[in-house]
Amino acid sequence: MATEKALSEKTFSKNKQASMLKQAVEQILSAVGEDPNREGLSKTPARVAKMYEELCAGYKQTLDEVVNGAIFHETAAGIVLVKDIEFYSLCEHHMLPFYGLAHIAYFPDQKIIGLSKIPRIVEMYARRLQVQERLTTEVREAIDQMLQPKGTAIIVEAQHLCVMMRGVNKTQASMVTTSYSGIFQSDEKLRQEFHQLVYRQENN
Ligand SMILES: [Zn+2]
Repeated sequence: MATEKALSEKTFSKNKQASMLKQAVEQILSAVGEDPNREGLSKTPARVAKMYEELCAGYKQTLDEVVNGAIFHETAAGIVLVKDIEFYSLCEHHMLPFYGLAHIAYFPDQKIIGLSKIPRIVEMYARRLQVQERLTTEVREAIDQMLQPKGTAIIVEAQHLCVMMRGVNKTQASMVTTSYSGIFQSDEKLRQEFHQLVYRQENN
């Protein structure tokens, strides 16, 4: 019974969220001078509502759910690197996409994580309204929290549509943010090794 109640409450709040989003999109359409009832737009509010549920799905996830116990005991030491993790996020200032690649390394201390979990952690934080700097730090902190490694390093490179589409100074420039903890912060040589591993192919 309790589960049924929880489920119906979940459906209720999901429906409520969908109808709020639909109404908001209808208002935006009217406000920009469109007719929300014209044929091509008639299903747009419902589509956009569904899209936002997907793009903002990270609000409904927790780190524990995403990692789902995939942490293993392992004494072998050395940098573990997952690079070129593609991500898509929305900037919280304009609600326009920013997207790019994340490269994440950690130096284990007895614990390792299933490799597929690292991209999922990135995705959970990316599917919220973000600024790139916070996304970078949150992912690094999540790895630190889950694994207590000797150190974690992350580089995020992204392009922001709010910069590319708006204003006169259109630019393809990408923004790079980094965050380091533990030995990646204290040991410059290790940090260099991380950078070399990330950018190895480009240097060949
Ligand atoms: Zn922006």
